[in-house]
Amino acid sequence: MAQRPRMVRRIAGLRRAVAGYRAAGETVALVPTMGALHDGHVSLVRRAGFKAKRVVVSIFVNPTQFAPSEDFESYPRSLVTDLATLAGAKADLAWVPAAAEMYPDGFSASVVPQGPAAVGLEDAFRPHFFSGVATVVAKLLLQVLPDIAVFGEKDFQQLRVVTRMAKDLDIPVRIIGAPTVREPDGLALSSRNVRLSAEHRALAPTLFRVLMLCAEKISAGRPITTVLAEGREAIERAGFRLDYLEARHAATLRPIVAASEGRVRLLVAATLGTTRLIDNIGV
Ligand code: AMP
Repeated sequence: MAQRPRMVRRIAGLRRAVAGYRAAGETVALVPTMGALHDGHVSLVRRAGFKAKRVVVSIFVNPTQFAPSEDFESYPRSLVTDLATLAGAKADLAWVPAAAEMYPDGFSASVVPQGPAAVGLEDAFRPHFFSGVATVVAKLLLQVLPDIAVFGEKDFQQLRVVTRMAKDLDIPVRIIGAPTVREPDGLALSSRNVRLSAEHRALAPTLFRVLMLCAEKISAGRPITTVLAEGREAIERAGFRLDYLEARHAATLRPIVAASEGRVRLLVAATLGTTRLIDNIGV
């Protein structure tokens, strides 16, 4: 059986463990997660393992990125299974701080990102979200000081926000994006998928199918605005409440009108029942 990663719950213990790796001349990668680990997370851990000798995986359901109306309390949590999953993925260290360790009494700093965090995608529907993410990721990067940190393209805007934040704050880390892992029917793996009813689970891959269809049409030269209008209609017809389906510059996430302007990324967010799903693909 694969060896369980060492688990640390205090910053002092984390720093001692990482200092041990550094003293041995080893490189370090960080994979931040909120737990409820699935094969998407595992692919990030494996990628991290190819890029660095030691892999630290943080598991922390970050309260500050949830609005009061959102699912912080009911977010899936499964630490024992997660540690077994990390053993299989060959992680070395599980960094599992309590909320009071991350946000002790009197905590009052926060990182408020602009740029990719303010382009009218997730930020328009979850205005609190990226300051919560940027603050916790800045803390995690400064706690571990890894050589690299791996984030999923599944959360494409987040990947861009974190990359920009690390650059702007001169945090000496290379941010690496990893491709989205999907179910055989195309649905992007997500910790929240377990909440979908059987009926909604059957409908959920529509999002990916529409993204693919839109990408094909744009590649074939159809105007982006027409293609997106058709895509939005198809998603709503399937029974989703659509937040957005947009085409953006892949690098800056600024709006893009014609495919000739640069690399296009299509991004979507929509809710089925009470489960909000996001996805994206490159054209
Ligand atoms: P989460 O635990 O959902 O906050 O995600 C932790 C990391 O895993 C983030 O960098 C996500 O982008 C990444 N991730 C989540 N789902 C997937 C997936 N299906 N494929 C690849 N990476 C993913």
